[in-house]
Amino acid sequence: MTAAQPAAARCATYRNDRTYPFCPGCGHGRILDRLNDALVALGRDPREVVIVSDIGCSGLSDQYFVTDAFHGLHGRSITYATGIKIARPDLTVVVVMGDGGTGIGGAHLLAAARRNIGLTVLVLDNLNFGMTGGQHSSTTPDGAITSSTPHGSVERPLDICATVGVNGAAYAARCTSSDSDLSARIQEGIECDGFALLDIWGPCTAHFAARNGASRQRLAATLDRLGFATGVLHRAARPEFTNAHAAACRGEATPPPGRPEGAEPLAAPRLRTPLRVVVAGSAGAKVRSAARLASRAALLSGLRVTQRDDYPVTVQTGHCVASLVLSPEEIHFSGVERPDVLLALSADGVARTARQLAAMGPGDRVFVLPGVALGATRATVTTIDPAQASGTLAPRQVALYALAVALLAMDALSEDVLLAAADAATGRHAAAANATVRRAAATVECRTAARADACGDP
Ligand code: SF4
Repeated sequence: MTAAQPAAARCATYRNDRTYPFCPGCGHGRILDRLNDALVALGRDPREVVIVSDIGCSGLSDQYFVTDAFHGLHGRSITYATGIKIARPDLTVVVVMGDGGTGIGGAHLLAAARRNIGLTVLVLDNLNFGMTGGQHSSTTPDGAITSSTPHGSVERPLDICATVGVNGAAYAARCTSSDSDLSARIQEGIECDGFALLDIWGPCTAHFAARNGASRQRLAATLDRLGFATGVLHRAARPEFTNAHAAACRGEATPPPGRPEGAEPLAAPRLRTPLRVVVAGSAGAKVRSAARLASRAALLSGLRVTQRDDYPVTVQTGHCVASLVLSPEEIHFSGVERPDVLLALSADGVARTARQLAAMGPGDRVFVLPGVALGATRATVTTIDPAQASGTLAPRQVALYALAVALLAMDALSEDVLLAAADAATGRHAAAANATVRRAAATVECRTAARADACGDP
């Protein structure tokens, strides 16, 4: 939130109107309700609260809140949350994860505790992998029957609270999903200046309870047998990571965020609104290099830029798609679901972007190379023929040529900034890129001068 924005009114609830999808008796919904109670009590601006989740039943949690959210790969929620907290230490970052994630992402848990980074982690500890059929997890009590331990688990369950406590966390508590003081404990965790973790037991009713029972008495007996105490188990006052890091770096010059050194604007932006550009080609066709050059040119125009690349793990085969957002304003989402401009450079690229192509409307532009078949589209289609460029164009320059033609034809970037970006390339690549940009500009100029028949029509 900037200083110009009005303060948000105090929220009566941080829940949206969606109904939880959890099984009957599952404790997950109760825990999320207590999280909501804690947020209401704290009165944080929902725009300054981020709920981060990963995979499993607990991973569904973020979508039931009106806060910001980040949902990612299994066991990685703490890494995403760490990145968010480092970028924006002012935000309240709450991780909602399962016990499965504490096993899969165990190293992340340790790193976050050692750093004492200001996250609040709620482990929705259902004692097994619920969503995938009740396999044993890192916290399954020894002796428990699960779908992967039909004779009873012989592993010692992970003591999450002791682990993070001994490794530097500021706060650790073990609770159950039905504890009457759960929201107060969550509130304490959020208010704690450092890494706070709550291990909240609530056996999976669909799998764990069905095989092992899960009455309150049984749960208490299991905790007792394991020597796992409940309540607040650990408190320590240590410097919080982002504050400690800022103090350690104080006095060092840092570059302005988002603008690489040497990319100071040369001209005023031509774009007044964001332009989403997708370059859809094949591996080895220099798609990413072309997009990188255009990104640099956009920076030199005073625009903000994001670039996301998509290619298979085999790298040298199949599609290669670069998605750019060029914007005069701050960019909050770098994904491109509906491009304003799509460059169709190969069949691989078209196959990969079929959904985006289908989403484009009559006001959008598709630039296509000759011989590349397009799926159905309502966008305006223009063919760019590299054979009609002045001089001979090497195959590795086609992507840059087509992208430069499209951006120049739409007046999104100027020839000057594209040339400056080309000149910033390394060694002989700079000369080749410079020549390609000049050919693209000549092609567009010919069209503008109504000599398209001779020069190629963008
Ligand atoms: S599978 Fe288990 S953890 Fe998942 S919603 Fe059902 S009871 Fe809850």
